[in-house]
Amino acid sequence: MEIEEIIKEKPHLQSLLELYEKTRNFVNQCKEDKETIKFDSDIELIDIVLRNFSSFFNIPYESIAFLKNEVLTAGIDPIKDPRSLWFIPIHSEELSKEEIDRMLFILSKPFFVFLKRESEQASFMDKGKCPVCGTDSCLAMITDNNEKIMICPLCEHGGSFFRIGCPYCFNRDSTKIEILLDDEDIRAEVCFDCSTYIKSFKESHYIKYKDPFLIDLISLPLDIVVQKKGYIRRAPNFIGLRIID
Ligand SMILES: [Zn+2]
Ligand SMILES: [Zn+2]
Repeated sequence: MEIEEIIKEKPHLQSLLELYEKTRNFVNQCKEDKETIKFDSDIELIDIVLRNFSSFFNIPYESIAFLKNEVLTAGIDPIKDPRSLWFIPIHSEELSKEEIDRMLFILSKPFFVFLKRESEQASFMDKGKCPVCGTDSCLAMITDNNEKIMICPLCEHGGSFFRIGCPYCFNRDSTKIEILLDDEDIRAEVCFDCSTYIKSFKESHYIKYKDPFLIDLISLPLDIVVQKKGYIRRAPNFIGLRIID
């Protein structure tokens, strides 16, 4: 389903979906560049990411090029540790703290995706966290075979997890997990033990929307309902939001 069609159906999500689309295109372009361009150094790869960021978000390259120096002088290595980008101190007259945080979050995304190895099959069974980058997940697909695949919100790695179970506290007692559904049958699985929730969707949703993170965004009203009940989302969505209000 094309983004324009989804926006027509869900006009209240227009600005989020537009940001989603830009971010998705930005990440995909960085991935493609990494695979097709030959790099002599990591800093060249960082530069490509900054240039793509500049073109997809219509920000003049000159105004973000300083981030490259910041990375060099602060000894930050986004290729090994993409999270380090979130903590670059930026002082701006024009941008709010929230806008800066979101910018750094989106900028870090391709570096997380670079960590993922396409062939990797590692599961989420051991720790409930992403085995590639160590992040909590709150998104899962239930396959047609009734298996649960957790999806990392940052590096996008998918790996199996218990069909019924909380990835945060490992409560696996079905009487202590409640399922809430939205009008498209996207589910919130809430844990009574630790107040965490994850969202899960069926393979048919995946076939319709093609991207788990898009399914996560279109079901944002479900986050609002579940968070109002006091449940906690442990991982950000595609554009860096964790608390939805
Ligand atoms: Zn990950
Ligand atoms: Zn729990």
